[in-house]
Amino acid sequence: MKDQLSFDDSDSSIRLEAAWQRVLVRIQSEVQEPIMARFIRPLAPVSFVDTTVRLCAPGRFIQEWVRERFSGIIQSYLSDELGESVQLEVLAKPREKMDSAPTKAVAAAVSLPEATPRFSPNERYQFGNFVVGQSNRLAVAGAKAVAKEPGQKFNPLFIYGSSGLGKTHLLHSIAREILSSSPSTSIVYMTAQQFAEEFINALQANKVENFRRQHRHVEVWLVDDIQFLAGKDKTQEEIFHTFNYLHSLGKQIVLTSDRPPKDIYQMDERLRSRFEAGLVADIQLPDTETRCAIIMKKAEALEVALTLELAMFLAESVPGNVRMLEGAITKIVTMASLEGTELTREFAEPIIDQYYQHTVSKPGFNQIVDLVSNTFNITIDEMRGPSRKAPVVHARHIAIFLTRRITGDSWKHIGSQFGDRDHTSIMHGYQKIDEQMHHDKELLGQVRGLMRTLNPH
Ligand code: ADP
Ligand code: MG
Repeated sequence: MKDQLSFDDSDSSIRLEAAWQRVLVRIQSEVQEPIMARFIRPLAPVSFVDTTVRLCAPGRFIQEWVRERFSGIIQSYLSDELGESVQLEVLAKPREKMDSAPTKAVAAAVSLPEATPRFSPNERYQFGNFVVGQSNRLAVAGAKAVAKEPGQKFNPLFIYGSSGLGKTHLLHSIAREILSSSPSTSIVYMTAQQFAEEFINALQANKVENFRRQHRHVEVWLVDDIQFLAGKDKTQEEIFHTFNYLHSLGKQIVLTSDRPPKDIYQMDERLRSRFEAGLVADIQLPDTETRCAIIMKKAEALEVALTLELAMFLAESVPGNVRMLEGAITKIVTMASLEGTELTREFAEPIIDQYYQHTVSKPGFNQIVDLVSNTFNITIDEMRGPSRKAPVVHARHIAIFLTRRITGDSWKHIGSQFGDRDHTSIMHGYQKIDEQMHHDKELLGQVRGLMRTLNPH
């Protein structure tokens, strides 16, 4: 092939030729030999001008075939090997007779992926028992969109949030949803740690090609806790190639991490920017109402009846993430059944106090209005009442501001605590203080002081 195509020996052509050889080696480890022989090896690098690489295919059929199925991956590998982002053009060598259609064997090889071990998602982790609130709304919407149309909308989907807030739950839910509508979809779920371990084993056993084949013949690729890769250069490199490969073929990728891409230290810049290229959605600590709803949901799963009062008490007094909430409810339910007692707030309170006595819980509404009432000498009833007197309104706005900042509760819920006020008037109060603090140093100092009193840590 190459003897028929003139290949000038300028620097860029030499670079291209060398890069192409490395690209061939990489592709070779990923596709079966018949495809390699028929479609890939016959390609010849022609030119590398500006940022465009031209490859020549021996005939229209191969040109089309490569354009359709391999241009993404070839382009990404070439960019990689050339060290800059390049565009790819696949040309067909004009004169020769048309290539014959592919043989049946080749066609079969193309469409048959290697068997990958099937992933069965955890029964407990489904969209149906995931409580949606302000804190996780975007992540859930992203996860559902991806489950509905894998590879179509957000690719990659990157979900981040601290531990115990439902990232793994969402990954399993995505898998379950996809499998329920198309059971034969090949889905890989693993933690970045598993990926790293398997990769290192494969390196040691000289089985990298097997490893790659397994990890690349997938429709949906779910990788949990990607932050684990920080500082692991070789594994990052491998993840990078797998990512590019799957992405260029339009396969769905979902990643999770305990922090946003920009905060994962010792992470290759190229990987980081790829993580950011789709939808990046965070999960925050849930507010009190969502916590309450989660508790009710868990009680339902445990088949116990819980009063709203008890659920609210737990939501307000158990500190930390959802995993801790689950721990608390399991503990109370177990103890109540051992002692044969009813599940009431009176029963739960001493257990919770004792269990969490060393951890500090967030101050709630009552503590906040108490403090504001004492500081400004305005009664709680006045703050919750209709008075429009300036000092009362000011104290009310400060209490609203603190409640929102500290509890993160919804405007609506805060409105109901402040004498059934409309959520817009709550937002207005919050904004008023927020804006005023920017130019009023005294107010700023005062609010900070109150925050410190409520949150000494
Ligand atoms: P992460 O992977 O973020 O550390 P997990 O997905 O393991 O967190 O979640 C921890 C536990 O909390 C799981 O049992 C999960 O079902 C539960 N959980 C987290 N968020 C929610 C939610 N919004 N609704 C219901 N359960 C939740
Ligand atoms: Mg997890």
